[in-house]
Amino acid sequence: MAMGEAKISPMDRGFLFGDGIYEMVPSYGGQLVGFTLHIKRMQQGLAAIGIQLTQSVDEWREIAESLISKNGSGNLGIYLHVSRGADVKRFHAFPDNVTPTVFAFAFEIPAAPVADKNLTKQFKANTAQDLRWKHCDIKSTSLLGNVMHFQSGQESGVNETILYNAQNELTEASSCNVFVVKGTRVMTPPLDKQLLPDITRYMLLDILRQEPTLAVEERVLSMDEVRNADEIWVTSSSKEIVPVVELDGQPIGNGKVGDIWQLAQSLYSKNKFNY
Ligand code: PLP
Repeated sequence: MAMGEAKISPMDRGFLFGDGIYEMVPSYGGQLVGFTLHIKRMQQGLAAIGIQLTQSVDEWREIAESLISKNGSGNLGIYLHVSRGADVKRFHAFPDNVTPTVFAFAFEIPAAPVADKNLTKQFKANTAQDLRWKHCDIKSTSLLGNVMHFQSGQESGVNETILYNAQNELTEASSCNVFVVKGTRVMTPPLDKQLLPDITRYMLLDILRQEPTLAVEERVLSMDEVRNADEIWVTSSSKEIVPVVELDGQPIGNGKVGDIWQLAQSLYSKNKFNY
């Protein structure tokens, strides 16, 4: 149906409490990237917050494919959203008899990035202490913490805000995961409740582990290591791998897009449809 015809109750707990889970899957020329991985993460998120929904990966794929065919199969983001549903009263406890609300739409995204140092977008980032909640592993629709961090970056004229915990260790960015390169070592923080189990991160680690010229490490990274890196990248489904050339006004490495980024993005571009 047309977006203007879609209706969601004002009593929907997604609206009142941000009580829901979402995904965004990119699709280029009708080909979805990492679809099963995204759906599995959504199913884990739904189970973690006690929303029961029985749709299989194939049923979700049918929804995604129908959106692609109705929206011209160009460069599309397929947004999938499940909230706990609408109750008759506003009460914090999970209601007993409630039907989850499923909402899906497609929107245009930029063309997939090309692995060319001269053509890629480059980000400037700032840093901030991570003030979000302690379940950042759940892809919750309650995004106010992320929105506030992202907005503070926008207001200081940068593209992303890279976050650290109370121990001055890297967590992730407000809408992306973070990778750091030193020499031929590519490093990213290990998965825990401080960060989203990012699908791009999963695919990129898998792809880079097959590249013999690189060493890949999942480990705790201090912000000193981040600042002294040769390269920093932020990753997400819609952006893939974006080089960060300036952090808090200081150049990263030589302040230019690095060779390892070029290698990583070219390997990712070649292999991303295999997931
Ligand atoms: N981290 C956060 C906080 C995000 O919001 C996102 C994407 O929305 C990511 C990381 C990247 O995740 P993915 O690669 O699964 O898109």
